[in-house]
Amino acid sequence: MQESAAAHLRREHIEVFIRGRGVCDKRVLRALQDVPRELFAPGMSLNDVYGDHPLPIGCGQTVSQPYMVAWMTELLRVSEEDRVLEIGTGSGYQTAVLARLAKEVCTVERLPALTVRAQAVLGELNLVNVRYRVGDGTVGWAEQAPYNAICVTAGAPRVPPPLQAQLADGGRLVIPVGDRMLQSLVLVERCGSRYNMRELGGCRFVPLVGAEGWPSGQT
Ligand code: SAM
Repeated sequence: MQESAAAHLRREHIEVFIRGRGVCDKRVLRALQDVPRELFAPGMSLNDVYGDHPLPIGCGQTVSQPYMVAWMTELLRVSEEDRVLEIGTGSGYQTAVLARLAKEVCTVERLPALTVRAQAVLGELNLVNVRYRVGDGTVGWAEQAPYNAICVTAGAPRVPPPLQAQLADGGRLVIPVGDRMLQSLVLVERCGSRYNMRELGGCRFVPLVGAEGWPSGQT
């Protein structure tokens, strides 16, 4: 069967900007190929959708650059048995990638309009292993804890203690930490009562707003 124009652009993008930058986990690369990014940025041209940059998704928010989605997902080492918490549903694009890799994804977004839209798109893709919550994700989702992996897709001033506490033993957490403009991607790995932390490189995300994040009203 002939590949669609979107699938072709997606394959080229993955080869050049994602595999080309060192992401090599085959399950992650397959999930990226299987999720049609164009559904999460309606009204954009395919060239924009498959550009090497974030895209606006309304409400002053963005869907991250595909490489950033791939890198964060690879760092989480998500297996088919894993339960994952995502903070910052946004368009639902990264939720969809995680849902293809995990047993279940719990995703939290503070802006109701974005959750409604993401839920509709993931429904269209028949991704039924996702639970949605509207609220402040800086406090996590304690009722569904513990999680094998936690992915925070907005920039925080520090690692929120409730998120660390909701990690299962052996669990991984990725989060951009820094100021409102620039952050460093941090990987936290729980080993019993120890939390090993590594800074992995610079990144730029919209602010994580909430009780354990930045105050609202300045986004
Ligand atoms: N993962 C998203 C995607 O694939 O489209 C991109 C998310 S965008 C970079 C960051 C998101 O985090 C925004 O939708 C924003 O509203 C959300 N956010 C910010 N603070 C939050 C909080 N305390 N709890 C939940 N979501 C939050």
